Amino acid sequence: MTVANHCRVIIRGGRVATSADTYRADVSIEDGRIIAIGEGLDERGHEVIDATGCFVMPGGVDPHTHFESPTETPSGDDFTSGTAAAAAGGTTTVIEFCSQLPGTTIRDALDLGHEKLARARPYVDVGFHMIVSDLDYPQAREDLADLCAKGVTSYKVFMAMEPIRLDDTAILDVMHSAVANGALVMVHAENGAMIEGLTQAARKAGHVSPVWHARTRPPLTETEAVSRAIALARVADAPLYLVHLTLGASLTAVSNARREGASVWGEVCTQHLVIDESYLTRTNGELFVFTPPPRAKDEQRRLWEGIRNGIPSVFASDHAAWTLQQKREGAQLDFTQIPNGGPGAENRMSMIYHRGVRTGTISINEFVSLTSTNAARLFGLYPKKGTIAAGSDGDIVVWNPDRRRVFSAATEQSRAGYSFYEDQEVVGAPEHVLRRGELLVTGGRFVAREPHGEFLPRRKFDRAGIAESYRH
Ligand SMILES: [Zn+2]
Repeated sequence: MTVANHCRVIIRGGRVATSADTYRADVSIEDGRIIAIGEGLDERGHEVIDATGCFVMPGGVDPHTHFESPTETPSGDDFTSGTAAAAAGGTTTVIEFCSQLPGTTIRDALDLGHEKLARARPYVDVGFHMIVSDLDYPQAREDLADLCAKGVTSYKVFMAMEPIRLDDTAILDVMHSAVANGALVMVHAENGAMIEGLTQAARKAGHVSPVWHARTRPPLTETEAVSRAIALARVADAPLYLVHLTLGASLTAVSNARREGASVWGEVCTQHLVIDESYLTRTNGELFVFTPPPRAKDEQRRLWEGIRNGIPSVFASDHAAWTLQQKREGAQLDFTQIPNGGPGAENRMSMIYHRGVRTGTISINEFVSLTSTNAARLFGLYPKKGTIAAGSDGDIVVWNPDRRRVFSAATEQSRAGYSFYEDQEVVGAPEHVLRRGELLVTGGRFVAREPHGEFLPRRKFDRAGIAESYRH
């Protein structure tokens, strides 16, 4: 069965789950948008998708992907394969990072992002963030303002990671521009100077194995940077989104700052909930080199506690599919040469469903908030994305709570050649996935033939609206 964009579709017999409610209803989609929600909708002239026994939820929004590498060396995926992975996991919108490298302009980085998107068309809709690493050129301020006019309404800065790391003065500068332009600032919070010092000492002592990736980035390098990022944002009165938090202490810092009135949100990624630091000592330890590094097992429990208490707002993948070969070549040199990251877009929703909803840690509505609605709100896409409402895009995942799936690189869409979760079984997976009414997944299988995803310009950061709508 294929369903084209212009077709009329009815999703029948499921339970609609949004961030706020769960109720029984049919959903009808026409010309890519939801036009009606209710019981007993007229099916004549429609393709009918049976959702009996399933949840009908807004398609996932994954606001943290690196399908196209910022460096000269491409990773295993491009927009086509990366978004196939996203769709196969229930995600219908991604926000990818464009990356300004020092000595280049923001404008060129945005042009390059669009070139890559045109070269390898996506299956799902794609927005862009901009990694800002150099404001030391004449048009930098104009370029930053221009991004927002072009629908790129979030800037990311790095407190670690050469050569793109910024010092506090430069971060404050970006934050002031964000306030003036209506952008949200995302921060990669690790103390780069500490990590540099620890890394030099480790190399001098002859340590080369992957576990040193974690040993040179101990928890304090994250918590110090998290508290400094929050202080900088408060000084600038800028909204702040902290990517990939890995520690209970980081979540506590977010929660405390928010209680004091700061506009701070936190993100948690799949791998930090599942993979602990012992994975780095395995024979294939290089696969699990990602940043921040895998932590002690205890921290996973603390992250779940934070999730249960509603502290992180968004659950993301940080998909960066370096290949098996790239990982191994790096490991033959030393731990600093192993490319950071791995695939995850396809695993994200099932993994948190299995470990979060099925265990009773979070409700189905909180699952929708964490995997879709909150990101859509924070990144200027709501209610076009992130909810099921008349007028919203027909981006829907028909979620089968009983579908079993065993994760394996052999059946996943990413071209990385490995899965972080090889052989792990989860219960709860997409039965059907529709992006603007077009069927991408059916019967749990990725079936889309042509990539019809589009670039998604986003609205500016809506501070007042978010303060009002946001529950945490
Ligand atoms: Zn990332």
